[in-house]
Formats: sequence, structure tokens, C-alpha cells
Amino acid sequence: MLHKYFVIFLQKKIFRSFILPIFAPSFMNRNMKLDSLYRWYEQNHRVLPWRDTTDPYCIWVSEIILQQTRVAQGMDYYLRFVSRFPDLRSLAEADEDDVLLCWQGLGYYSRARNLHRAARMLWQRDGKMPDTFEGLRQMPGVGDYTAGAIASFAYNLPYPALDGNGYRVLSRLFDSDAVFDTSAGKRFFHQLADSILDRNNPRLFNSAIMELGALQCVPGQPDCRICPLRSQCMAEAAGTVALLPVRKPRSELKDRFLSYTVYLSAGQTLIYQRQGKDIWQHLWEFPVRETDSHPPIDALADCPINKEYVHVLSHQRLHARFVVQPVASLEPVMHELAPALPSLRIVALSELSDYALSRLTQKAVEEWLACQKL
Ligand code: SF4
Repeated sequence: MLHKYFVIFLQKKIFRSFILPIFAPSFMNRNMKLDSLYRWYEQNHRVLPWRDTTDPYCIWVSEIILQQTRVAQGMDYYLRFVSRFPDLRSLAEADEDDVLLCWQGLGYYSRARNLHRAARMLWQRDGKMPDTFEGLRQMPGVGDYTAGAIASFAYNLPYPALDGNGYRVLSRLFDSDAVFDTSAGKRFFHQLADSILDRNNPRLFNSAIMELGALQCVPGQPDCRICPLRSQCMAEAAGTVALLPVRKPRSELKDRFLSYTVYLSAGQTLIYQRQGKDIWQHLWEFPVRETDSHPPIDALADCPINKEYVHVLSHQRLHARFVVQPVASLEPVMHELAPALPSLRIVALSELSDYALSRLTQKAVEEWLACQKL
């Protein structure tokens, strides 16, 4: 009954913004049906390899992989990564190229570079993963969420961990229209999560909230009738479930036009490693020229990969063309391009798979080599 009045009160947006951070957590804390939530979790959770372990290294790797990647896609990468680099030492001692090669196709390569950098840093320091939130937070590429996830999943320490699924559950439980993908919104939900955290079992609590978001409290209109938290869910009572969570408007994508030249001579080609702070740092690709637009596709009529590849990154839409250019010898071309591309090297086509290529280049190479074999 009290819950119903509370929900009506929270309908007023002006009050909601002020009330939530102060009163709602303690209200929920007293009323949260953890038994139902945990029972639901025991019966429904997915069996995932990183859940079967409390090894902080494996949990760290899985959390970094899953930051921008769905579980179905991340699973193979996780298994391959921990098989290739099973512990801190093997990752710390690896070449960056090998780490990037293992990450190839997963995108957001700064995650792999940070994993590698952090492993080297830890290995040089004392050879161990930190076992405190503060220590974890100092690792390159580890923010509040990842530190909280490792702290709670590996050590059962009382820190909240909210991924995208967790934000959705909390915003609906509290009928909050706080914009979750801004720093202020993240801080707000982090405080909420901290307030309602089950300090007796943070590992189970965090896992259950995130899994509820992944399987039950899904985007759009979930089936709230079968939800273990239905009786406490303020959005369900208010009829606002489908409107939540609120995210900031997407920014316009910037279009970029890339023209790659695949110089070809006697089964060999030229590739270089990208440097600087632009996209695909330290990945390999064919010599490229960037222009303001692309010529009409007819101009490429004799090109074996005669099409435009469109590749969307978080803030950019790349339009790429690949032109195969047979030459008598690669050395003069290399000599000409080397001042602008010092990392340029001659490689056999059969060796391209040994290099960490961007997903875009990898796709073009696969299609091109496939059509060569026809
Ligand atoms: S009742 Fe519906 S909206 Fe609320 S937590 Fe459950 S599934 Fe999500």
C-alpha cells in the first residue's frame, strides 16, 4: 500500500529528481525481494565460462571483452583469448601484435591495448591482480563498472556493478528518467545501486540484477507478469516501462572516405601499421588516401573488389574503396611511400593473416582472395 502512494508521488518529475537519491534507496532496500530475485537467478541464469570462476584475471578479460560486445559474439573471443593468454604473465610477456591479432574483428582495439598495458604494469609491479576496488580502478582501461565487477565477482567485495542491462533494471525499478549514458546519470545510478546492494552477497546481487536485465527486463516491453521484482517495480506501476531507460540523443555520424591501394607484385603486397590517435591504432592495412568524397563507382569498373564498403564505428561512418594495382616491383613504390608511412613493409598475400588487420580490411581481403580462387 505504502508502495502505491510512493509511486504516485514519484510520478511528479520535479519531486522524482530530488526524492530518488535520498529516499528511494532505503525504501527499496527494506522492500527488495532478494529471495525472489535470487531464486529467479538460480533457475534462469545462463551458464557462461567467466561465471564458473573467481579468477580475477579471467573475470577482467571477460568484462573488457563484453564492454562493447554481445555475449554471443564475445564468447568465442573470450575462450580464444584465455586459451592464448591464460594468465597475467603470458599476457604481459606477449607482443602487442599478438594481442591485437587475437582481438581482430572485435573492434574498439584500445580495449586490447589497455589490457596488455595493464598486464605489463601489474607483472612488473608484483605479478598479481589487485584485490581492492581502488587498486583495480588504477588499471588502464578499468572504470567504476569494471572495477566493481571484478571486486564483486572475484572477491565478493561490496561494490555495485552496473552494465547496460543493470542500468535498464534500475531505471525501471525506480521509474527514473535520469539519462543513464552521461557521467551525471552514471553517478546517479551508481549511487542507487550502492544503496540497494546486498552487502552479504554482492557477487550474487550484481550477477542477478544484470542477468535480470539481460533475460527478463529486456528493452522495449518485457513480460512484467513473470518478473520476480514486479511488486516493487515503480515503472510497472506507473506504466512507463517502455519509455525507460532514457539515453542521450545519438550524435551525428561523421562520414569519411578512404581509398586503399592494394599494390600487387608476384604474390606480395604492401601494408603499413596505423599510428597516431586516429582509428585502428597499431592495426595493419593497405596504403590509404583520405578524400572529401569518392568518385562514382564506374571509375572502378576494372577493380576486382568493385564496391563501396561502409563500416560504421561509434562516431564515424567509413566509406572505403579498395583498388588493386599490379606493379612490376614493390620496392620503388615502397621507396616513394615510405616518408609518409615509415612502417610500410612487403608481405606475401599468404602472410596477411599473421597481421592484425582492421575488420574492414580483413573483410575486403577475404572477399578478394576468395574471388582470386574462383
Ligand atoms: S517488472 Fe518489468 S520493468 Fe520492472 S523490473 Fe521486472 S521486467 Fe523490468
